[in-house]
Amino acid sequence: MKELKYLNKYLLKYKFQIFLGIIISIIARIFSLFAPRLVNNSLSIVEEYIKYENISTETLQKELLINIGLIIITALISGFFTFLIRQTIINVSRYIEYDLKNEIFLHYQNLSIEFYKKNRTGDLMTRITEDVSKVRMYFGPAIMYSINTTVLFIIVIASMINLAPTLSLYTLIPLPVLSIIIFKLSKSIHIRTTIIQQTISRLSSFTQETFSGISIIKSFNIEPRIESKFNLLSIESKDRNLDLAKIQAWFFPLMILMIGLSNSLVIYVGGIQYIEEKIDIGVLAEFILYVSMLTWPVATVGWVTSIVQQAEASQKRINAFLKQKPKILEGFNEKNIKGEIRFNNVKFKYSGAEFNALNNISFKILPGEKIGIIGNTGSGKSTILDLILRLYDVTNGEILIDNINIKDYSLKTLRNSIGYVPQNPFLFSETIIENIKYGNYKSKQLDVEKFAKKAQVHKEIIKFNSSYKTLLGERGVTLSGGQRQRISIARALIKKPQILIFDDCLSSVDSETEDKILKEINNLGRSRTLIITSNNISSIIDADKILVIQNGEIIQMGSHKKLIEINGYYRSLYNKQKTEKQ
Ligand code: ADP
Ligand code: MG
Repeated sequence: MKELKYLNKYLLKYKFQIFLGIIISIIARIFSLFAPRLVNNSLSIVEEYIKYENISTETLQKELLINIGLIIITALISGFFTFLIRQTIINVSRYIEYDLKNEIFLHYQNLSIEFYKKNRTGDLMTRITEDVSKVRMYFGPAIMYSINTTVLFIIVIASMINLAPTLSLYTLIPLPVLSIIIFKLSKSIHIRTTIIQQTISRLSSFTQETFSGISIIKSFNIEPRIESKFNLLSIESKDRNLDLAKIQAWFFPLMILMIGLSNSLVIYVGGIQYIEEKIDIGVLAEFILYVSMLTWPVATVGWVTSIVQQAEASQKRINAFLKQKPKILEGFNEKNIKGEIRFNNVKFKYSGAEFNALNNISFKILPGEKIGIIGNTGSGKSTILDLILRLYDVTNGEILIDNINIKDYSLKTLRNSIGYVPQNPFLFSETIIENIKYGNYKSKQLDVEKFAKKAQVHKEIIKFNSSYKTLLGERGVTLSGGQRQRISIARALIKKPQILIFDDCLSSVDSETEDKILKEINNLGRSRTLIITSNNISSIIDADKILVIQNGEIIQMGSHKKLIEINGYYRSLYNKQKTEKQ
C-alpha cells in the first residue's frame, strides 16, 4: 500500500467525518447483534415450556411476541445507522475524488510543454478520470466495508467466545486458511490490474488520436486499417480484463466454502455438546446466526482486497505524474518589462533530439523595434519565439530582457508582457468574444470590437448570426484557417503587451488583408517590441532588423535595404519571391 500512502493527507483532512462513520458503524453493528441473542432467548423459553412445563401458554406467547417485537425494532435501528454510514463515508469518498481531480489538474497545468510532448493526451485523461475513480472506490466502499467487517468481527467473535469458548475455537478454524488465500489472490489481482490500466490508457490515447485525425483517416481511406488496430487494442483490453475476472471469480466461492465449513463445524461440534448437555439449544441457534452474519463481510473481504489493489495500481500511475517536477522554474522578479530582448550565444536542443535546433544565436532588439525573422521551415524560427516565451529553457547561453535573465522573472510577469500569436492558432470551443477576451478578461465589448477591426476580422464576425456570441468548435461553427489566425491576432493585440510575437501567423490570409493588418500594427506605434517570423519577405520588409536563419544559425542580419545590397541568401530569396509575384 506504498502508493496509497500519498492519500493519507486527505484521510486527515476528513478525519472528523471518517471518525463519525466509524462510530456510526459500531452502533449499527451493536444493534444488529441483538437478533441472535433474542432468538437464543426465544428458543430457551420454548425449550423450558416443552421440557420442564413450568411456564403457562400465555406467558410463552407473551414472551415470544416481545422478543419478535424487539428483533424488528433493533433491525430497524441497525438499518437506519447503516444508511448513515453511507451518508458519511461514501460522501467523504466523493469529496476526496473532487480534491484529487483538482490537485492533478492543477499539477498538469504547471508542467512544461515537454511533459505534454512526451505523454499522450489519452493517457493524461485516463489518469485524471479512470484512475481517480478507482482510487475513490478505495476511499468509499473499501473503507466502509473494512470498518464494517472489522467492527462486526470484533463484536461477533467476542460474543461467541463469551458464550461458548470451545465451540468458538472450532468455528474459527477456517479463518487463518482464508487469510492466506486472500493474500495470495490479491497479489495476482494487483499485477493484472496494473496491466489493465495501461491497456485502457493505450486504448483511449488511440481513440483520441483517431478522432483528432479523422479527416486524414477519411480522406486516405484508412478506416479499415484504423479499425483493425483498434480491434487489436480492444482484444488486448478484453483479454486482460478476463484474466482479472478469472482470479476474482475464485474469491466468492472460496469464501462461501469457508463459511460452509464453519457452519458444518458449528452444527457437528455444537450438536455433540448439546447432546452432552454442555450447551443449550438456544446457544446453538445463536451460533449458527453468528456464522451467517459473518458470511457477507467475509465475502466482501475478497472484493475489498481487489478494490484496494486496483486503487494501489491506479494511484501509482497518478503519483508518477504528480512526482514530475515542472522543468521551467519560477523566478521572482516582477519588474515591469520595457521590451529590450537580447540573445547571447543561445544554443538549444529539444530533449530527445539528435541535433541542436539553435546554434550560437546572438542578437539584440531595442524596446519598440520591429524585428523580422526569415528562414525556411525547420530553420528554427518558432523555436526562438518559444524560448522568449520560456516554454523551454535554453540549453546554453542566455536570454536577457531589459538586461535581466528571463529565468529571473516570474512566469506571470514575463508572459503577461508578451502577446503571442502561434503558428497554428488554437481557439477554444467557446464564443468568439470569450476567445478574444482570453487576451484580457477585463476588456469590454467595444474594446473587443476595436481589436477585431485592427485584426481585419470584425466584418466577418458580424456576418455570423450570433455575431460575437457565435460558438466555435465542436458544437459551433468551424472557421477558416485565416479567420482563426486573425481572431488569435485580436486576442494577442487586446492584451496590449510590451512584446508582440507573430509566429508565421499571416500565412493563411491574402496579401491585401496582410498589408492592412501590418499597417494597423505599425499604427500601434513604437511603444511595443514586435517580432514577426515568416517565409515571406513582404511580411517583414519594413522591419528595423531582419534575422535570416538557416539550420538554426543566423546567416545574415540587417535591414532590408542593407541585406539586399549584399549578394547572399536574402537577396536571392527576395528576387525569387519578386518574380513569383509577377
Ligand atoms: P520553423 O519555425 O523555422 O519552421 P522550428 O523552430 O519549428 O522551425 O523547428 C526547428 C527544428 O527543431 C526543426 O528541425 C524541428 O524538426 C525541430 N523541432 C521543433 N519542435 C520540436 C520538438 N518538440 N521536439 C524535437 N524537435 C523539434
Ligand atoms: Mg515555425
